[in-house]
Amino acid sequence: MKDLTRRDQIAGGLAEVEARIAAACQAAGRARDELTLVAVTKTYPASDVRILAGLGVGDVGENRDQEAAAKAQECADLSLTWHFVGQLQTNKARSVVAYADVVHSVDRIRLAAALGREAVHAGREVTCLVQVALDDDPARGGARPADVPALADALAGTEGLRLGGVMAVAPLGADPVKAFTRLREVAGTVRAAHPEAGIVSAGMSGDLAEAIACGATHLRVGTALLGRRKPFVR
Ligand SMILES: *Cc1c(COP(=O)(O)O)cnc(C)c1O
Repeated sequence: MKDLTRRDQIAGGLAEVEARIAAACQAAGRARDELTLVAVTKTYPASDVRILAGLGVGDVGENRDQEAAAKAQECADLSLTWHFVGQLQTNKARSVVAYADVVHSVDRIRLAAALGREAVHAGREVTCLVQVALDDDPARGGARPADVPALADALAGTEGLRLGGVMAVAPLGADPVKAFTRLREVAGTVRAAHPEAGIVSAGMSGDLAEAIACGATHLRVGTALLGRRKPFVR
C-alpha cells in the first residue's frame, strides 16, 4: 500500500474532526458557523501549519512562546489568526504580542497589564480571554471563578487589549459536561458586564462534543488533527 502523504493524513484528521463537530452541532441544535476550530500545532512543524492553511484552516494555536514565535515567522506569508493557549510568563508578553492575535490564557492582573503595555508599544490590539480554573490544580493555570469578573474588568479597561471572553481546560479525569457547564455560568457573568465578550474557548480532541453542547465558540484541537504528540522533554 502506498504511504499516505502528510497532507492526506492531516486532511483525514480534519475530515473526522469536522464530522464530529457537525454531529455535535446537530445534537445541540447549533450551527457550524457559531464555532471556530483552532488547530493546536504545538510540537508539529511549520510545514503542518502550511498544510492546514491549504486545507482551509484559518486559526492555529500554540502553547510555548519560543516555538510559536519561530513558527509564526516561518508562516508570515499566510493569513492566519494565531492563538496563544499556554501558560504565560509576564516576561514573555513582548514576544507573544508580536504574533498572537488572541491570548487564551490570561489569569492574573499583572499579566494583563504587561500584555497591554507591550501591545500599545507594538501598535497592536490583542484579544484576551480570561482563563478560568475549573479545579484546584494551580499547575494548569487559570483564575478562580470568584476572581474572574475583576480580571475581565481589568482586561476591558486596558489599552491595547480587547476582552474577548473566557477559556478553560476541563480537569483531567472529571466529567467535562460538569466543567463546561460551570464555565458557561462564568461566561454568562462576564457577558452580563461586557456584552461584547462572547468567546467561550473550551473543548479539545477528547471533549469537543461536550464543549459544543455547553455553548463553546472556540475549540482547541491538536491530537485529533495532527496525531499523538511525542512526550515533551525539557
Ligand atoms: C495542547 C492543548 C490543546 C489541544 O489538546 P488535544 O488534546 O491535543 O486536542 C488544547 N488546549 C490547550 C490549552 C493545550 O495546551
